[in-house]
Amino acid sequence: MKKLIAGNWKMNGTQASAMDLISAIGIGLDENPSLTDTCDFLVCPPALHLTIVKDAIEGTNAPVSIGGQDCSANDNGAHTGDVSSDMLADIGCEYVILGHSERRADHEETSAYISEKAGRALISGLKVIICVGEQEEEREEGREFDVVAKQLRESLPNSASAANTVIAYEPVWAIGTGKAATTDDVAAMHSFIRKTLQEKLADAGDIRILYGGSVKPDNAGDLFKVENVDGALIGGASLKADQYLGIAKAV
Ligand code: PEP
Repeated sequence: MKKLIAGNWKMNGTQASAMDLISAIGIGLDENPSLTDTCDFLVCPPALHLTIVKDAIEGTNAPVSIGGQDCSANDNGAHTGDVSSDMLADIGCEYVILGHSERRADHEETSAYISEKAGRALISGLKVIICVGEQEEEREEGREFDVVAKQLRESLPNSASAANTVIAYEPVWAIGTGKAATTDDVAAMHSFIRKTLQEKLADAGDIRILYGGSVKPDNAGDLFKVENVDGALIGGASLKADQYLGIAKAV
């Protein structure tokens, strides 16, 4: 299975910087075409920049998919400020990230609500990247497997399958801290996630499980060697084309 190199640009940048970033990624992929033998590329810009980034990708034929960072649980109508999954699909998104820990924290999103959003996004034909991961104190208390199992059981909609769903394991204490999980911890959690998914999905063996949390070019090689690590969800390092592509080169 190719590794999915997914960049989460979060709430960063301007139209100009988004164009610079996607154009630098396109040029880098043009210069290193063999990267697409081992990796699939995805960027998730802020909602307001999705269209210009999509247009830039189409203009250069760069082998990069785009995705949203969130979507509404509703299909359309009176939901001021929300972006629907149909809208994301309509402008050419292939993916949407759901249940990122920042949304769980900033917007008090529960796993049940994430499951509703995911079900709606799948109806729109999007693939969902469902994020799970424990807080630092939950790990210190030895509860990381229980926390992640509960998030998985409650966040996945019944329509999920390996073809339309990706799981991102992102220990919250590793996000944006420069302190990635150890390869032993990642190995244990990714294998546990795959086993837990088997309760619900007949094709759990084929589902992609990404690791996220301070992935950089210099730790990506070791992380990608870990069994059941099928790619990375990258925050900070995805805002610099050389680092984002450096992570792919580590495959
Ligand atoms: C993220 O926000 O999903 C993330 C993994 O961030 P970072 O790579 O900066 O830790």
